[in-house]
Amino acid sequence: MIGRRERAVRLRGQRIGRLVVLGVTGLTLALLGGCGTVTPTTGQQYVLGTIIRIAIHERANHDATMEAAFARVAEIEALMSTSEDDYDTTELLRVNRAAGTQPVPVSPSTFAVLDEALRYARLTDGAFDPTVWPVVRLWGIGSDGARVPRQEEIDVALSAVGWERVELADGTVHLTEANMGVDVGGIAKGYAADEAAAILRDAGVTSALLDFGGNILVIGDKPDGTPWRIGVQRPDRQRNTYIGVLSVVDRTIVTSGPYERFIEVDGVRYHHILDPETGYPAQRDVTQVTIIAERSIDADALSTACFVMGLEAGFDLVEALDGVDAMMVTADGEIHATPGAAALFELTDPEFVLVEREG
Ligand code: AMP
Ligand code: MG
Repeated sequence: MIGRRERAVRLRGQRIGRLVVLGVTGLTLALLGGCGTVTPTTGQQYVLGTIIRIAIHERANHDATMEAAFARVAEIEALMSTSEDDYDTTELLRVNRAAGTQPVPVSPSTFAVLDEALRYARLTDGAFDPTVWPVVRLWGIGSDGARVPRQEEIDVALSAVGWERVELADGTVHLTEANMGVDVGGIAKGYAADEAAAILRDAGVTSALLDFGGNILVIGDKPDGTPWRIGVQRPDRQRNTYIGVLSVVDRTIVTSGPYERFIEVDGVRYHHILDPETGYPAQRDVTQVTIIAERSIDADALSTACFVMGLEAGFDLVEALDGVDAMMVTADGEIHATPGAAALFELTDPEFVLVEREG
C-alpha cells in the first residue's frame, strides 16, 4: 500500500510536512562515516508512506534539482496511491474501481510500473503479485484498520488474486474480473528512487545518496573518492542497528523485512508482506532480504519476492539474473550472500556469520 495515511499515525506531532526542507541537516542515518569537505544539499519529505531523504554532494547549488526530484516523487504517489483516505482518485484507484468492466487509460509512468510488476509476477511465479491488493487491503497492515481477517474473508479476497488476469495494452490497464485490484506498494519506492536519481544525474550530479525509507540508491562515490558505506539493518533489533556495512558505488540496496510494518494480536506478529498462495504474511526461513542492483525498481521487487520465496528459491532466482546480488538472513543468524554481495560486505556483528554462496 502506498499513501500518506500512516504519516498521521507515525509522525503525529513531528510536523514533517510535504515541503522540501532544504539546507544543511544531519547526514542520513544510513550513511556511515565522513564525507569529505563538500557540504551537501539535503532534502527530506514524508511521501510514499515513508521518510525520503536526498543528499546531493556537489559544490554547485542544487536546490532546484532537489525540488524537481521531490516533485517527481510526489507526482508518482498521486498517480499510483491506492489509499482512499489520502486521495479521492488516482490512476490506480480508477483502475481498481473499473475492475471487471473496461480498460482504463493511464500515464506512461503507471503503465511502466505495472508492466514491471507483472514481469516480476511472471518471473517469480506469482510470489510477487501486484494483484494481491484485495488481501493487502483486507489485512490493512500499516493502516489504522489493521486486523487479522477470518479465513472466509481471506478465501474471498484470494479468489480475486491473479496477475494473469491483468491486461496491459495501448496505454490502458484492464482488470478483467470484478473485485480485482492492483497495488504497487512493493515496487513503487524503487521506481521513485530511480526517477529521482535520473533527475539528479540529468542535472550533472555525480555524487548523491537517496534514502527512501531504507531503500538506498547511491550516485557515484563519495566526494572523497571512496565508496558509500551503507549499514545493513539487523532484523531483530531497533532501526539503525547494523549487522554490517556494504561499500558501494552507483548501486541501489533495498531491504525487505517483517519488521517494517506489522500488527501484534495475541502475541503473534502479522507483517505486511503477504504470500499470494496463502493470503497470510509470508512465513519462510528468512528474516530479511537485501538486494543489491543497478535499478532500484528491480531491487525493490526482488527483495519483496525473495522474502516470499525463501532462501533456496530466492537465491535460485537471483543467481539466474545478471547484475543482481543478494544477502538473506536466517533466524539462526546466518547471512547468506552471493559472492558479489560478500565482496562488498563487511560483517560487524559477532552474533552473525557470513555464508558465501558458491559462484
Ligand atoms: P516491500 O516493503 O517493498 O517489501 O513491499 C511490501 C508492500 O508490497 C506491502 O505493504 C503491500 O503493499 C505490497 N505487497 C505485499 N505482499 C506482496 C506480494 N506478495 N507481492 C507484491 N506486493 C506485495
Ligand atoms: Mg519491495
